[in-house]
Amino acid sequence: MNAEIIAVGSELLTPFRIDTNSLFLTRELNKLGVDVIRKAVVGDDRKELRRVLQQAMDVADLVVCSGGLGPTEDDLTREALADTLGRRLVRDDEILRTIQERFRRYGRAMPENNARQAMILEGAQALRNPRGTAPGQWIEVKGRVVVLLPGPPVELEAMFANEVRPRLEKLGHRRRLYVRDLRVTGLPESEVEQRVTSIYRQHPECDVTILSAPGEIQLHPRIWSEDAAAANKTLDEMVKGFALALGENLFSTSGESIEEVVGRELQQHRATIATAESCTGGMVAARLTNVPGSSTYFLGGVVCYSNDLKSAWTGVSPDVIEAKGAVSAEVAVALAEGIRRNTRATVGLSITGIAGPGGGTPEKPVGLVHIGLADERGTKERAFQFPGDRERVRSFATIGALDMVRRHFLYAALGKG
Ligand code: ATP
Ligand code: MG
Repeated sequence: MNAEIIAVGSELLTPFRIDTNSLFLTRELNKLGVDVIRKAVVGDDRKELRRVLQQAMDVADLVVCSGGLGPTEDDLTREALADTLGRRLVRDDEILRTIQERFRRYGRAMPENNARQAMILEGAQALRNPRGTAPGQWIEVKGRVVVLLPGPPVELEAMFANEVRPRLEKLGHRRRLYVRDLRVTGLPESEVEQRVTSIYRQHPECDVTILSAPGEIQLHPRIWSEDAAAANKTLDEMVKGFALALGENLFSTSGESIEEVVGRELQQHRATIATAESCTGGMVAARLTNVPGSSTYFLGGVVCYSNDLKSAWTGVSPDVIEAKGAVSAEVAVALAEGIRRNTRATVGLSITGIAGPGGGTPEKPVGLVHIGLADERGTKERAFQFPGDRERVRSFATIGALDMVRRHFLYAALGKG
């Protein structure tokens, strides 16, 4: 079974609102074995809506619409579908009473407009909306199903769970989507792709989606199958192959974020961490505190942007800053050691760099970032040259720093350093 999702609403065609309902619907439909083959976003325009509905019913077994079920003139989804199917809209008195009752509960009279929400297509089943006034609709036409859902995400999600999912389950499709979520850092996308293609080519039944963000690449191998055991076996084999090809750059095979992995390592080693950040302005601290329970290992950090505060808060000597520059290996080392000493953390982590766009020189170009890591055995420092604009450099630096902590524990476990 395949589906098209139509998001209705003129605000979704502006730069201010994004269609998130279709992401929720896609995830839920995939879980039920329904493949989403197309999505559309349409404004509140009856003619355009009619055209998109007609096209969708030509290509998809299931058409799911969100939005445009409200009481106002610009809510036209019901009417457009009635036009498309050549069916009448009829008033459902029971729904009308429910809507009136809802207004009465809030101590108000029902505005005349809301009566429109009690209009149901001939032959449609009304879908209850416990979180709002507009009911949804489920219509079966010539072996196809059209579902109308309200636009507000809280209403749509509840209605999908209570009314739509059980009906789709009854249609009884055994095919399901099986997906793994692998996370990689320290390699460019092209290199990741090169290392893994020969592995997934051996499994033509499997698709691999590669998502790339600064400093992190996600690999999602996906299989549609009726046989859970066979799908999982293939995926296990592929993940094993990927792990060999990617080595220590693969940091999770279960969709964990790098801060979760780092947090787990710190906890396992009963270690604590403190940060001294310059060009990332606290982004590393923010990532570490994304994880619930991070207070057991993250002591805190400072954002020491000025040279004076670098010295005041971590004790780095003004002479070193003067001689080597704030963005230098020596300062990164001193920041990491200083924050570790001042907080008594097991690990001190530091970042100093040139995020740009200004401030670069031929010897120290934009994108140069030094990361320092100090523990009881000594201090490591690495220089990176990251590409891109200010935002990308800062994102790369943040992940680079977290990854340095991850590798620190990994190499220690492997006896590599
Ligand atoms: P209402 O009775 O609230 O008018 P409706 O079914 O007419 O319900 P809309 O008017 O289209 O729905 O949208 C109501 C709200 O839901 C708006 O704030 C809108 O931004 C949000 N919304 C609509 N469609 C989507 C979507 N596809 N993704 C995320 N939010 C959406
Ligand atoms: Mg509306």
